[in-house]
Amino acid sequence: MNAVEQIKYDLALANRMMANEGVLDTFGHISARHPERPDRYFLSRSRAPELIEPADLVEYDLDSVAVGGSTLPPYSERVIHGEIYRARPDVMAVCHHHAAAFMPLVITGTDYVPVVHLGSVGGFKPPFWDQRAEFGETNYLVVKPEEGRALARALGDHMMVLMYRHGVTAVGVNLSDLAFRCVYSCRNAEYQVQAAASGKIDPLSKGDIDFGSRIGGTTTGHTRAWEHWTVRLQRGNWLPPRA
Ligand SMILES: [Zn+2]
Repeated sequence: MNAVEQIKYDLALANRMMANEGVLDTFGHISARHPERPDRYFLSRSRAPELIEPADLVEYDLDSVAVGGSTLPPYSERVIHGEIYRARPDVMAVCHHHAAAFMPLVITGTDYVPVVHLGSVGGFKPPFWDQRAEFGETNYLVVKPEEGRALARALGDHMMVLMYRHGVTAVGVNLSDLAFRCVYSCRNAEYQVQAAASGKIDPLSKGDIDFGSRIGGTTTGHTRAWEHWTVRLQRGNWLPPRA
């Protein structure tokens, strides 16, 4: 496979993995920047993530307009991806999700706090974005370019932004970095909420988080996790078909 075929296969696989691991459900989506054209990215046509295959992936420019005039029905919130790729040259993959694990935090405006070491993937004090505060009453879908730009501004140089009454958008330097961040930030959010109900939390310090988040792709952890999530799909005979 060439680089484009490889990223498209990995992106289909990542969508299925994140559905299988409880990050995505009917809604939510993952994109990857084009490996040879930094001004373009791949995102599926509007489809449930666990069904996505390479043939569903559409190439978009940073205005989130389909290259080559694809007529496949798009996701309405694709500007999230385009505007983040435009604002953050370091970002190679983006996931927008509404995982149940994060709902108590985004409903109450409670900060995400790493309470176990793997939770440091979410970073120290990831920001909140309130669509209503900037744009008044909406249906909370991020569909206008200015809404996507505002979300990208709120993300700043963080790796995750929490969206009031809606969900989360996370970024990665590659797909396995992103998948790792999504799964382990969800686990941490679950533990955080459960632990807060059971007793006093003594969370990681900013220094702990800096150490923890620096491990990143420097160990075999990301590869091990990617293999683990792949084999869980394989057991159910649910790997995406090759293009
Ligand atoms: Zn959404």
